[in-house]
Amino acid sequence: MSDSSITVLPFIQAIKDTINNHADEIAHLDQAIGDGDHLINLQRGVDALLNNSDALKQLDFSAALSKIGMTLMSTMGGASGSLFGSMFVTMGKTAKDKQIDSQTVSDIFTAGVESIKARGKAGMGEKTMLDTLIPASSSLQQSISNGVELSVALEDMKKAAIDGMESTKDMLATKGRASFLGERARGHIDAGARTSQLMLCAIADCIIEK
Ligand code: ADP
Ligand code: MG
Repeated sequence: MSDSSITVLPFIQAIKDTINNHADEIAHLDQAIGDGDHLINLQRGVDALLNNSDALKQLDFSAALSKIGMTLMSTMGGASGSLFGSMFVTMGKTAKDKQIDSQTVSDIFTAGVESIKARGKAGMGEKTMLDTLIPASSSLQQSISNGVELSVALEDMKKAAIDGMESTKDMLATKGRASFLGERARGHIDAGARTSQLMLCAIADCIIEK
């Protein structure tokens, strides 16, 4: 992977497709234990990115990530808009002046997840998107540092994301709107955990298919 070969647009399109393919499910998850707007927030964010596709095409990887972050922050809305916005702004800063290879992509992703932890003041086991993102980024870091081939590392990351997403079902929520529900939140998968998993799997599949 070299910087010049990375264009973010196919990834954004793959994310739009997976969100649209799971639209009803995503809407229902946030209706069950949130306020029902997570699907619309995500669609608004992705559409804003695609409306900026000409500008994004001109930018290098680092600048494109930063622009994605700022666009999400200013358009998406909801807790997830500020969290994903912050993640991409941080990933843009982390990517600056770096030679892009498997290790740096993994480091950039990990830095993005750390920024969500800091901004959301949350960690594992709180029934949020972090229950998908933390195990996925840890899995990728471990695979890459062990020299595992990229396509295998990405398949393992997908599995970690799916296991993490499913683990939210039996959790009590301690962050976000679902935390107001106490025991009633149990039995439902967290919407942000599911959409983070869908997006990670879509991005991984894009890279694997290349
Ligand atoms: P809102 O909660 O403002 O309606 P969304 O519905 O778009 O925003 O996003 C909700 C998702 O955001 C939740 O499903 C959860 O995964 C995530 N989330 C909410 N609060 C936090 C937090 N403090 N830390 C991490 N993720 C959070
Ligand atoms: Mg919501």
